[in-house]
Amino acid sequence: MKFHLLTIFPDFFESPFRQGVVARAALAGALDIHIHDLRNWTHDLHRTVDDRPFGGGEGMLLKPEPIFDAVESIWPERTLYQRVILLSAQGRRFTQQIARELSANEEILLICGRYEGVDERVAEHLADDELSIGDYVLSGGELAAAVVVDTVARLLPGVLGNEHSSVNESFTADILDCPQWTRPADFRGWKVPDALLSGHHAEIAKWRKQAALDKTRRMRPDLIK
Ligand code: SAM
Repeated sequence: MKFHLLTIFPDFFESPFRQGVVARAALAGALDIHIHDLRNWTHDLHRTVDDRPFGGGEGMLLKPEPIFDAVESIWPERTLYQRVILLSAQGRRFTQQIARELSANEEILLICGRYEGVDERVAEHLADDELSIGDYVLSGGELAAAVVVDTVARLLPGVLGNEHSSVNESFTADILDCPQWTRPADFRGWKVPDALLSGHHAEIAKWRKQAALDKTRRMRPDLIK
């Protein structure tokens, strides 16, 4: 899968994609990430990407022209499997289910807003979707874009080894993952539950299922149907 990230801070992505699962996926050829500097689609001396909002108000907005020009030159024609996503606090909430849907595409282009946001014509006439990573306001869409890339990347075939399959992870079945422990079995008097030390696979699986349900009820009752 190919990701395009449109940003006024291309250097931002130097670090997040250089380690871990995303870096391994890129090395394995499962993922291709292209960072595009929005200022490359400006035509004035100062490479202006922003302007004041009509009607007055705080701050500046990203202008529509460079964003439309960028997307239309990256994809002169668009297929159904090339999706444009605008990162925005006003978008619908990004979830594991949406990540699964996105992972079925061939290419995704993520537009990172800045300042007070982006001219609304981008959301209305260019983006296929507007996504928020949570009910809080970030300074820019770059962190949100990195979250989307990471979440989708680990769902791509072959990115996680079998031993780290995403099948049992939180949100796969409207339930959180079960709590887990590692050695030592006794740390400062806090002991690992006996069931996990029993060696009985069926008992362990049963215990884990119940523990996952208990934790979901406690931490995220909204998930339980
Ligand atoms: N004035 C906007 C509002 O209140 O909805 C906030 C603009 S924010 C300071 C600048 C940019 O950060 C946005 O255009 C968007 O790209 C990004 N951003 C902020 N919060 C976000 C969130 N929760 N999810 C995704 N992107 C976000």
